[in-house]
Amino acid sequence: MSDTIFSKIIRREIPADIVYENDEVLAFRDLNPQAPVHVLFIPKKPLATLNDATLADEALLGNLLLAVADYAKQEGFAERGYRAVINCNEDGGQTVFHLHVHLLAGRRLSWPPG
Ligand code: 5GP
Repeated sequence: MSDTIFSKIIRREIPADIVYENDEVLAFRDLNPQAPVHVLFIPKKPLATLNDATLADEALLGNLLLAVADYAKQEGFAERGYRAVINCNEDGGQTVFHLHVHLLAGRRLSWPPG
C-alpha cells in the first residue's frame, strides 16, 4: 500500500488533533467536519480499504469498532447516539486510501446518506 496522509499522522510527521489512541488504533478529528463531532478512527496497520482486510485482521477490525464505542461512552454521547461509517472505494466516496471509520455525532443525522 502506498503512503497516505494518515500514515504521516501516525508517524507524527504532520499535525492532527489526536483524541484517542491504543496499541492498534489512532483517532483524530477530521479536518473538514460534517457534524459537531467528526473523528476518524484508523488502524495503525496500513490497510488501504476494507476490501484489503483478511481473517488475520479480525481482531483489529473488532478493536477499531470497540474504540469508536469506547470513545462515544467516554465523551458522553453514546446513549444519545452517533454514526460509524466506512467509505470503500470510488462508489463509497473513499478519498484517503488508509482504512478509517468516520464517527459522526452531536446532531440528528439524516438517512439515507447522499
Ligand atoms: P473518506 O472520504 O476517504 O472516507 O474520508 C477521508 C476524510 O479524511 C475526509 O473526511 C477528510 O476531510 C479527511 N482528511 C483528509 N485529509 C486530512 C488531513 O490531513 N487531516 C485530517 N485530520 N483529516 C483529513
